[in-house]
Amino acid sequence: MTHPARSARFLIVGPQGSGKGTQGVLVAEAFDVPQVATGDIFRENVKGGTELGKQVQAIIEAGDLVPDELTSELVRDRLAQPDAAGGFVLDGYPRNRGQVAHLDEFLAGRGEALDAVIELAVPRDESIARLRQRALDQGRTDDTEEVIANRLAIYERETAPILDVYRERDLVLRIDGVGTLDDVTGRIFDALAERGLVPNGDGAAATGAA
Ligand code: AMP
Repeated sequence: MTHPARSARFLIVGPQGSGKGTQGVLVAEAFDVPQVATGDIFRENVKGGTELGKQVQAIIEAGDLVPDELTSELVRDRLAQPDAAGGFVLDGYPRNRGQVAHLDEFLAGRGEALDAVIELAVPRDESIARLRQRALDQGRTDDTEEVIANRLAIYERETAPILDVYRERDLVLRIDGVGTLDDVTGRIFDALAERGLVPNGDGAAATGAA
């Protein structure tokens, strides 16, 4: 498979607590593209007390999904910024089939396409354990037991099925997300490299010689 214009347009998908935030940043840094995490953007707006923040605060605190139109508009604006011209790592979007359609439309309108969808597979018990730990470490208001259960249920019901859509397009790299941070990072870069997706300049950097 060839990639005519070198691009790095990636999604990173996995349940809450799968480590996708951390891994997404590492992939974005290596490929020199921005990491765009919708959850982070929403949380910043809530913290900053912006109009958007006020609109979404209650939804986020309940662990429900912000309406697709609002979320997709936010993503379109962000991906239209010059720093995302050569690629991006999208974390936390799309989260359902409606958002997949919005993203397809946006990319098609620009003559662009995704290069890979990184799926971080983590068993339910493991995600719950990690989210409980994160609640202790970071004190996020949406990491309470009840909200965690709601968010995981939404993931399983609405988000996991989008992987089928991308699997049909042969875009999904399924990565075992259990292990040390470095183990998982290594698996991601190996899987990307197998598709010919290596960071600019120095492909060896990703594997990190001892
Ligand atoms: P996250 O940090 O990705 O778990 O996102 C935190 C919260 O932001 C989610 O529980 C949702 O309320 C909201 N959110 C983030 N991304 C999306 C999205 N793509 N669609 C709808 N809501 C989202």
